[in-house]
Amino acid sequence: MSRTDEILNILRTFIVPKGELNWRNPYELLVAVVLSAQTTDKHVNQITVPLFEKYDTVYKLAQANVSDIKEIIKPLGLSDAKSRNISNLSRIIVERYNGIVPNTFKDLISLPGVGRKTAQVVLAVAFNTPALPVDTHVERVSKRLGLAKKDDSVLDVELKLKRKINRNEWIDAHHLLLLFGRYYCKSAHPSCNNCKLKAYCKDIISK
Ligand code: SF4
Repeated sequence: MSRTDEILNILRTFIVPKGELNWRNPYELLVAVVLSAQTTDKHVNQITVPLFEKYDTVYKLAQANVSDIKEIIKPLGLSDAKSRNISNLSRIIVERYNGIVPNTFKDLISLPGVGRKTAQVVLAVAFNTPALPVDTHVERVSKRLGLAKKDDSVLDVELKLKRKINRNEWIDAHHLLLLFGRYYCKSAHPSCNNCKLKAYCKDIISK
């Protein structure tokens, strides 16, 4: 068994690999992921309740005033860019894709506010298509565990993980690494004392 598989197997013993954003269809997930930039999933879940109550279809969001959207999503921060992006991407989905969120990387990444990470989260979570998005948690944990080098770019980390991990495990690996980073191997105060991956760590912060 490879070192990477050993790490993932240990993570599976205490983490259930699943996303934490609330959504009912690909449209809601896409909007939620765009809104999640620089804030927490928990906070996004609070704001998407009133947002999707008012705009429960992509058609309604496409017709909404940007200022009305902004008012609802303001607590999440970056509300100028986020309201503009979700308004524009909704209009494009209605006009170009008949109201259906596209399910290819190429089409998703062409939407406003949708980068490599967001496109892959939507592919993985909404469409169950193999993808391995790298966010700040996945990047940090991968480097601490020696799955990538300290000076690797986010894209380097993604490509290295994809080479080391079987394609059919990419989605689970994304969730496992992300949740490990979010709840255990935190940026400033990782829980090194009780860490089950201490033996694999290149970067133990406190013994
Ligand atoms: S020992 Fe600490 S830094 Fe290393 S993986 Fe575990 S929690 Fe993260």
